[in-house]
Amino acid sequence: MQPTDIKNPDYFHKVVDCQWACPSHTPVPEYIRLIAARRYTDAYMVNWISNVFPGILGRTCDRPCEPACRRGRVESEPVAICRLKRVAADNKGDIRPYLPNIPREKNGKRVALIGAGPASLTVARDLMPLGYDCVLFEGEERAGGMIWTQIPRFRLPEEVIDEEIGLILEMGVETRFGHTVPSMKALLEEGWDAVFVGSGAPRGRDLDIPGRREAALNIHIGIDWLASVSFGHTQHIGRRVVVLCGVNTSMDCCRSSRRLCGE
Ligand SMILES: Cc1cc2nc3c(=O)[nH]c(=O)nc-3n(C[C@H](O)[C@H](O)[C@H](O)COP(=O)(O)OP(=O)(O)OC[C@H]3O[C@@H](n4cnc5c(N)ncnc54)[C@H](O)[C@@H]3O)c2cc1C
Ligand code: SF4
Repeated sequence: MQPTDIKNPDYFHKVVDCQWACPSHTPVPEYIRLIAARRYTDAYMVNWISNVFPGILGRTCDRPCEPACRRGRVESEPVAICRLKRVAADNKGDIRPYLPNIPREKNGKRVALIGAGPASLTVARDLMPLGYDCVLFEGEERAGGMIWTQIPRFRLPEEVIDEEIGLILEMGVETRFGHTVPSMKALLEEGWDAVFVGSGAPRGRDLDIPGRREAALNIHIGIDWLASVSFGHTQHIGRRVVVLCGVNTSMDCCRSSRRLCGE
């Protein structure tokens, strides 16, 4: 048997099942203890360090931590880990005094971030305190990516998105909204020290099956249709809707359809 390698932090993380199951290894027991002590701001900060958007994730995380929760094995249900994140976010005080200082004197390195979705925003959040100059290029007029353009507002209110993204932009990130980067070659020739491509994967899947083209007016690609609802271009849908597939996008299509058809 190999001796335990206690220099590897994974050894300790694995001991706590929920923390190990969380993709960002959020210290779940620590923040739940803080919530139990009504220390919501501290609980929020424990989350913020690991997962950047606690208020957003407290509403939208797929919560792989919960199936791993030990309570699920000894009681009928796991602890509501995800919603407790929302509790911390909704009850916290002003967290600005606890955010990292942004050095006035920069380290001389300029980083271009393509796309202002959660991926690039996370890079900015981590690099700004280290003194990097981050420039965010975004084709849309505001930051957020699909959490703003696709996830329906009844699941994720705009104020929550604005607040958490605002905390990152306030670190002094230079933003170039309404600026789609048309060419990687041209961007690389501008002499950036690093370029992060956070342009997302914004294509839904079409189905080339018999009848698809003939019925095109009544068939929509999920993420395009949700964006159209989000921007207010689509305000109606028929009463009988068939949704193909069964994960986030399709459930959002089901729930948005129910709302649009008034049922
Ligand atoms: C309907 C739906 C529901 C979802 N629900 C959940 C959920 O409940 N929980 C969850 O965890 N995740 C959910 N997701 C997934 C989540 O939204 C994505 O994983 C996340 O937004 C990906 O972040 P990203 O930064 O990689 O890309 P994106 O959010 O796609 O952001 C990329 C950004 O780059 C910009 N961009 C692209 N090309 C360029 C260019 N050339 N120049 C400038 N800007 C450019 C785009 O305009 C966009 O703003 C959902 C997704 C959808 C579509
Ligand atoms: S709710 Fe999501 S972010 Fe939070 S601990 Fe669970 S998996 Fe991690």
